[in-house]
Formats: sequence, C-alpha cells, structure tokens
Amino acid sequence: MLRDATPADFPAILELNQAFVSVLSPLDHARLARLHAQAALHRVIEQEGRVEAFLLVLREGADYDSPNYRWFAQRHARFLYVDRIVVAGTTQARGAGSALYRDLLAQAAREAVPLIACEFDIEPPNPASARFHAGFGFREAGRQALDGGRKTVSLQLLDVTINPPGATAMSTDAPYPIGTPGTPWGAAEVAAWSARQTRQRSYEADVLRAIESLRTRFDVQQYGLIEYAPDSYPLFAISSRPWRDELPVVLVTGGVHGYETSGVHGALQFVDQHAARYAGRANLVIAPCVSPWAYERIHRWNADALDPNRSFRDDSPAQESAALMRLIAPWRERVLVHVDLHETTDTDESEFRPALAARDGVAHAPGEIPDGFYLVDDSEHPQPAFQQAIIAAVAQVTHIAPADASGEIIGSPMVAPGVIRYPLKQLGLCAGITDARYTTTTEVYPDSPRATPEQCNAAQVTAVCAAIDFALDQSGEDAAF
Ligand SMILES: [Zn+2]
Repeated sequence: MLRDATPADFPAILELNQAFVSVLSPLDHARLARLHAQAALHRVIEQEGRVEAFLLVLREGADYDSPNYRWFAQRHARFLYVDRIVVAGTTQARGAGSALYRDLLAQAAREAVPLIACEFDIEPPNPASARFHAGFGFREAGRQALDGGRKTVSLQLLDVTINPPGATAMSTDAPYPIGTPGTPWGAAEVAAWSARQTRQRSYEADVLRAIESLRTRFDVQQYGLIEYAPDSYPLFAISSRPWRDELPVVLVTGGVHGYETSGVHGALQFVDQHAARYAGRANLVIAPCVSPWAYERIHRWNADALDPNRSFRDDSPAQESAALMRLIAPWRERVLVHVDLHETTDTDESEFRPALAARDGVAHAPGEIPDGFYLVDDSEHPQPAFQQAIIAAVAQVTHIAPADASGEIIGSPMVAPGVIRYPLKQLGLCAGITDARYTTTTEVYPDSPRATPEQCNAAQVTAVCAAIDFALDQSGEDAAF
C-alpha cells in the first residue's frame, strides 16, 4: 500500500535510512520531523504492516542545509527535490522504487512544477541508482564533491515539461534508434531493424541436436520450414510413440519468443526426463522452439519484426505462428491441456517494449518487471484450481512473483498468488490456439539474482508436469461420474 507517511512511521523510516546511510545522509528523529513538516511529498509503501520503502521530497524555499538541495535552490526557481528514496532489499525493490517515482511524477503534474531534482553518488559509484534514474529520463546537470572530497555526486534533473510522464519515451535517454518517434515503421524501418539483429547462438547446435537425440524414444516430425533468405530453419515437433487416438492430447510449446531460453530448454528437458511417464495416458506433442530465427538472435520478434505471440490468428502473417496452427489442426479439438513456456526478462523493459512502441509509433510508458515466476490464465475460461496447482509445484523450485505496489503483475491485476489473466484468443496468443480446457502460459524470471539457468529450466519442467498431472487427474474424475 502506497500512502502518506505519518509520525508513527518515523521509527521505521529512520531504520531504513540507517540501513542505507552510506549512500544517504544521516537522519535522526528531530531532523526527520523537520523535513517531514516541510515535505511536499512524504510517502511510504507498507507491506503486511511493515514500511518497506519511503520517499521524501521538498519544494524550493525549504529551510534545509543539504549542499545538494542548496545547489538546485541556487539555480532553479521551481522544483521538486528528492531528498531521499529508500527501498528495503526485498523482492519488490524495483517495483517499489518505480511506484514511488510515478507518484512523484503525478505530484509534479498536480503542482505544475517543471523540474524534478535529485542526486546520486558517482564516486563511489551507485550504478543501480544511475540506471534507475536514467530509466525515468533524468540527466546530469552538474557534479559536486562532498565530505571534503571523499565522495562525488551527480546532480540530476528531469524536465517534466519536455518529457511529460507517460507522453514520451522515458525509459531511455535517446529515442529508439530506428524510425521517427510517433510514426509507425514501414518496410524500410523493419529492414533496418532486421539488419541490426545478429546471430548469437546456434539453433542447430542447441536445439536440433537435442531433438535428434530423442528420436530413439519419440516420434519427431518436421512441421514447417521458416525461410528468411539466406537462412532457413526446419521446425520440429516431438510426440508420443505410439500415438493412440483414444487418448487426450497434451501440447507443450516453447520458444514462441526465441530469446526466452528456458522455454526452449525446459521443453526439451521435459521430454527427456518426464515424457515417458505419461505413456498410455496421453499423447504428448512438444514444439520446443517455435521461433528459431529469434532464438539465434535472442529476440522477441521474427525477422519481419512481428511478435509471433500476437499472431496466432487465421491467415497469420507470422510464418512461425501459421506453421504451429497447421501442426495442431488435425487434433486441435482433442487437446486437454496446453502449456506455453515463456520468460519475462529485464530486456523486456530495456529493449523490447521500447522497440514495440517505436515500431507502432506510440509512446513507451515504463513498467515494472516482476521478480519471480508467474502464470497467465485465460480470462474467458479461467481455471483457478489448475493454475494454483502449478504455482504450488513451482514454488518448490523457484520464488513466485509478488504483486507490485498496485496489486498488479506487469500491469494486470493479480487474481491469485502468481496468476494474472489475459483474453488469450482475442490477443492472438499461443496459449489460445486450442480449445483445451486447461491452458496456461508460464513466465519464468531469469534475471533474478536468485535464479540460475538450471533453476529456470527446472521451473518450466515442474510447471509442465504439474499441469499435466492436474489435468489428467481431473479428467479421470470426470470420467468416473
Ligand atoms: Zn514470451
């Protein structure tokens, strides 16, 4: 919960300040009370009764002896000065900081203040703070040495009249390097973008070889050929042998977004380690790498700058999506469960969303990347018990994403622990390609300091097993009625 600070919060605020005093200035009760009385904005984020973060902001004209505050006061007539922002080192650190700054931007708009001022240490460096402020569009306005030269700060300004919140790209200092801001890309921009993407890893070595090694135990079928001259990529699906028409079908898809590595390797690992135990209970079909061009370039889109995961529609313009839809067409009605394996990464915010905004000629509004695993259910046909069974299983392997300060994950309300919902078919998402009763999209967070690549693969494998186990158990019960 984001709310105004009160004197009752002072002990918790002083404790947070003390924990981060090396990058802040010391604070005692009397000094905090004086700042609080003069504050233009003094906000806290409270989680489960604990103050996890606070933000203290002053306007010009305050009686304050901070040399950084004085620096701005000598140069600018109207500003909001971030005296300090502290976020406890919890899983929500990133989200809480952004939530407080969005609140600050709203305050600037309400008071029609043109400038937001703050500083961070550059000697010794504080790269997390530098990145955070750059993400909001702050720029250096000056530097000064403090403590007799023992540290140097970068004095930062955000001009909210040039860069109004939510109206222009704020997550990068420069506009996206391709196209004209506000104008959707045409063929030339798409070609320029595609030419910049370089091959960084091998589909053949990483994926096709692993598929080859499964041929002794499973059927392997080529279901398409992706062609971006001079490159071409055969698409493969792995399925149960023998196929039995009377059994339900289980579909697992990975690499719809090529850069989401654990989706590809998790799918292959599932086949290798667990697929055999479903023999006689279900026909499994695994398409481990739906978008191989993007796998090699560690990108989200295909070579035409199309997102395959918005393109699962009739007459799809994305070859990758069209091929998968052709693969499943013969047994589409008999799919009981479909698990589509994804990741949510820091590059979503730093690269892919700015690229998307540039491609479509719209503004990029910064968002938050959740720290942890979550699932996307179908808002048209939700299956809450199914989703929770998966969350419970994956929680044994890796941490589940908490909601942010607004109760959301990635901009959607968290409807149950670690679960959000999208209208899958309407959005053209892969998880909506069948009429399966049970469907989910996994979102592993690989950039967490707490998650290794092995853990990310294991989280995908665990999610697939839990999904199939739940679906087969339920359909068994249904049959007994
Ligand atoms: Zn994805």
